[in-house]
Amino acid sequence: MSKSELIEHLISNNQNFSSEFSGQGVAGVAAKKLLILTCMDSRVIPHEIFGLELGDVKVVRNAGGQLNPEVENDIVLASHLLNCHTIIIMPHTKCAMASMPLADVQKNLANLTSKDFSNFTPRMIEDADSKLRADVESLQNNTLIRDGVNVLGAIYDVDTGLVNWIS
Ligand SMILES: [Zn+2]
Repeated sequence: MSKSELIEHLISNNQNFSSEFSGQGVAGVAAKKLLILTCMDSRVIPHEIFGLELGDVKVVRNAGGQLNPEVENDIVLASHLLNCHTIIIMPHTKCAMASMPLADVQKNLANLTSKDFSNFTPRMIEDADSKLRADVESLQNNTLIRDGVNVLGAIYDVDTGLVNWIS
């Protein structure tokens, strides 16, 4: 197997990380009893945004930082077994998932690749604000989630670094 320059770089950095590693004994449950659902966007770095440390928080990511049945199961599980008492759903501004309708995505990908994307249905977000509110409400109303869990919604601003909480 040949490794690209990038992978060699990652391996080297990881060896440095490991040589100074001091996370032995950090518990697998989140120390802050916190879970963040956010987007896979490379501008969103939850630990830095909130000043969190190794072991503090569970992070679930996907395209858009949005609830779907799979993610909802993960969060229900984490609320009970991983002590996550606070859940923050945090999409961000300028998210590609909210930038165009599904039909346009399918058309663009088809043009780009000459492949048929008509059955490809990523969860594009029509209205970011109402989608976030619906996701928060849906999770709050999930009867299987740990009693008393606090579900919050927020939008991370990729231009200012500020998290704007929805009420
Ligand atoms: Zn995004």
